[in-house]
Amino acid sequence: MKTGSGRDGRVIVLGAGPAGLSAAMRLAAEGRPVTVLEKKGSVGGLSGSFPWKGHTLDYGPHTFHMKEPEITGFIRSLYMDDPAELLEGKRNIYVYLKKRMFHYPLSAFEVLMRLNPFLTARAIIEFMLVSLIYKLIYVPEDNFESWGIRRFGRTLYNLCFGNYTEKVWKMPAKEISFRFASEKVRGIDFMALVRKMLRIRGQSLLTSFWTDWIYPVAGSYDIYERMRKAIVENGGEVLLNVSISRIYHDNGKITSVEFETAGAGRKAPCEWLISTIPVNSLLTLLHPRPSDFALYHASKLSYRSLILVYVEINLEKVHDAQWFYLLDEHFVSNRVSEQRNIRPSMIEAGKNVLTFEITCRENDALWEMEDTKLVELVKEDMAKIAFMKEIDILDSTVVRIGNAYEVYDLDFDRHLDVVMDHIRGIQNLISTGRKGLFLQNDIHDSVRMGLDSAKLIAGKHSENGGGNPR
Ligand SMILES: Cc1cc2nc3c(=O)[nH]c(=O)nc-3n(C[C@H](O)[C@H](O)[C@H](O)COP(=O)(O)OP(=O)(O)OC[C@H]3O[C@@H](n4cnc5c(N)ncnc54)[C@H](O)[C@@H]3O)c2cc1C
Repeated sequence: MKTGSGRDGRVIVLGAGPAGLSAAMRLAAEGRPVTVLEKKGSVGGLSGSFPWKGHTLDYGPHTFHMKEPEITGFIRSLYMDDPAELLEGKRNIYVYLKKRMFHYPLSAFEVLMRLNPFLTARAIIEFMLVSLIYKLIYVPEDNFESWGIRRFGRTLYNLCFGNYTEKVWKMPAKEISFRFASEKVRGIDFMALVRKMLRIRGQSLLTSFWTDWIYPVAGSYDIYERMRKAIVENGGEVLLNVSISRIYHDNGKITSVEFETAGAGRKAPCEWLISTIPVNSLLTLLHPRPSDFALYHASKLSYRSLILVYVEINLEKVHDAQWFYLLDEHFVSNRVSEQRNIRPSMIEAGKNVLTFEITCRENDALWEMEDTKLVELVKEDMAKIAFMKEIDILDSTVVRIGNAYEVYDLDFDRHLDVVMDHIRGIQNLISTGRKGLFLQNDIHDSVRMGLDSAKLIAGKHSENGGGNPR
């Protein structure tokens, strides 16, 4: 291990998901002493996997999107010696709406053409009317609903986004920030649709976010297990089942982290702290404690939790879709995935496992519901899906994930600003990744953030030996 002058300060990384492990792997490769502290008993965070009977299951489908060549190259480097262990594939995603499957990203053109003509006519007239009205009078676009109706008219908005959004977030769309809408529902141009219908100019209605993915033969977790091994081979530590009790800071700098692992307490000094755990939890661990003002705003950042109901069936193929969204409000589940369509060998031969995703508030009736009752709800959903009606369930298992989705309510950015300001006040603390930045991002984003954090530490250190990262 290199311990040259100015390069021997330990970096502690909180969280062994894609962001934390990428940062730690890069730092360890550069010879930095690194300790990763993870509360769970395995690595990979939301992108990990777990064994169930003869299957290896992900926490919902988890393909790695090939959007940034540099980041994809970093993942490929983990498979340099056995490239065949990394599969490549193309997205094949659908949307189930009004008893029909539509390709995803959803094309407004396809939706209107395949739904009944009365609904199509109504959607077009509404669109013309809202376009006119919004030209004549000012109507604020300050929430998800007003943003969507302004762009699509109420019928199309409700069909394609509104109902689904309220089902996923368990709150009225009026209470969701328009920033979320502009990020998630981008690229639909209704005028392009009208032009296309009038055959003026044919063009795609939706910009595609990503099409190609990579995925390990052994399952999503394999990427993170390889990262863990690389960190350890370079002299780093990855500690699992860790309970962090306090993060000490003094004079605007983190000094040490106190935690318990394998029944023993430890206080580890550090020169830098990279945190990928939820920002609001990070604030509550700081000692001395932050101001009541900062803690109040941290407590206002909220999440939705996720219940995954896995059902084993004895039918090897149900549909071609890797996953599909259930847009109609009468479904309890939001999405169904068929992991066999990503990597068949992860599922025992002759069988299949379908994953149903249900969002909820932590501790609400769904969260507290007995597993058998959740499976009953899923059975009811299956009975409403034309090609799933006849399928028998052989067995099932349920996984609950707290704080899975960040809620972008109308005030979230105001609360987040206060929290991030507080964190920025501590020079050697980097809060990053999905949870650390309160972002609903993808894996490649978290990997990039991890690598950027490592770069920042290396750069700062060699330039001036410290300093505020932002
Ligand atoms: C159902 C679902 C499907 C998804 N599908 C895809 C997909 O197909 N492709 C894609 O690119 N992205 C997908 N994502 C997003 C992807 O899972 C995340 O972007 C990614 O895992 C974020 O990585 P991260 O390291 O930033 O955070 P996380 O994966 O959340 O890792 C954070 C880690 O911190 C640990 N931690 C939390 N609190 C503490 C604490 N107090 N002490 C110590 N450790 C702690 C957690 O246990 C976890 O291991 C999906 C997300 C969900 C919910």
